Amino acid sequence: MLVILSKYLYNEFMEKFCIVTYGCQMNVHESEKLSGMLLDFGLQETLKPTNADVIVFNTCCIRENAENKACGNIGALKGYKKKNPNVIIAVGGCMPQQKGVAEKLLDKFPFIDIIFGTQNLYLFKQFLQERLNGKKHVVELEYNSPLPPENFEFNRDGKDDNAYVNITYGCNNFCTYCIVPFVRGRERSRLEKDILEECKQIISEGKYKSITLLGQNVNSYGNDLKDGSNFSKLLKEIALLPGDFKIKFMTSHPKDLSDELIETIATTEKISHDIHLPCQSGSTKVLEAMNRRYTREHYLGIIKKIKTKIPDANISTDIIVGFPGETEEDFQDTITLIKEVKFSQIFAFIYSKRKGTVAEKMEGQVPILIKRRRVNEVLNLQKQIIKEQKGK
Ligand code: SF4
Repeated sequence: MLVILSKYLYNEFMEKFCIVTYGCQMNVHESEKLSGMLLDFGLQETLKPTNADVIVFNTCCIRENAENKACGNIGALKGYKKKNPNVIIAVGGCMPQQKGVAEKLLDKFPFIDIIFGTQNLYLFKQFLQERLNGKKHVVELEYNSPLPPENFEFNRDGKDDNAYVNITYGCNNFCTYCIVPFVRGRERSRLEKDILEECKQIISEGKYKSITLLGQNVNSYGNDLKDGSNFSKLLKEIALLPGDFKIKFMTSHPKDLSDELIETIATTEKISHDIHLPCQSGSTKVLEAMNRRYTREHYLGIIKKIKTKIPDANISTDIIVGFPGETEEDFQDTITLIKEVKFSQIFAFIYSKRKGTVAEKMEGQVPILIKRRRVNEVLNLQKQIIKEQKGK
């Protein structure tokens, strides 16, 4: 059967694709875009890589183990590719955006056909076509891309009746441990009218109970637009759209969470009271070294305001233990902060060196055994807090 779809040439020997996704909700949503493109290409989705003719790894590089996992899974396909040389293996997402990594990947896994990045993902069908036209390796990375086009074909996963919507791409914050600004570029906000249009489309489909707005720092939405847009205003505009749905968002940066935004969340019925507010550390000294640009006191002040204005708020957080220079005293500051706030959920991580970040070269790297002990202490404390809360 020969099917010609859009401007791309359908390959009759190719039937199925599989996307393997690592990392955060941003990547999960980007895989929905890739999936939409591959369906448009005329392929069907399978969840098993070894059933697929096109396998795409949408990678993450936020921590070393995410990269190791992806490399292990790419390497495991060597035999499959040898038996099925027409199979296309593509690696995209954050990992190849790091300087020199695309070359290393090709060196280690010469059977990779396509390498692409976070900022040119919307060109994936073109890359696939180039490979099918006979180009040996298609390696395309983009570092200063403006916003991607608005006309994406989505294949929304719809898990938990939720639809993701990007409101910003990239990040300007340069936390010293984080690779994201290097791999995803500077912050770019979508126009309010385009976001509203996408939300209207989602609501009209009638199958989603919530819309989750995505950005590395949703609270700074609109700063680059200079047209008066801001996150609080955007939330209010979306809430005005007719329909029965909740608005969720992630991730909030404490330094940009304004009183106006807390008021908007408190007084707008459609906005969820689940607030993810990464504190990362309870020590002002460590926060400064992380370039988070708020203090322990400022963070606790925001929490107090949220709890006063939104008494049923579910506040969750991210904690990094073992950041370079974190002493036992600094760590105890994190423990006391957790005891004081009583988060509904904590995502606790061991600090992992990322090449090219400021923290990579910092003195006072914490030994792994201490990091493990600290992360366990955080997790055990959180378990205890949840147990006590359930017992109330
Ligand atoms: S705000 Fe900080 S941690 Fe979050 S993506 Fe930007 S640099 Fe990374």
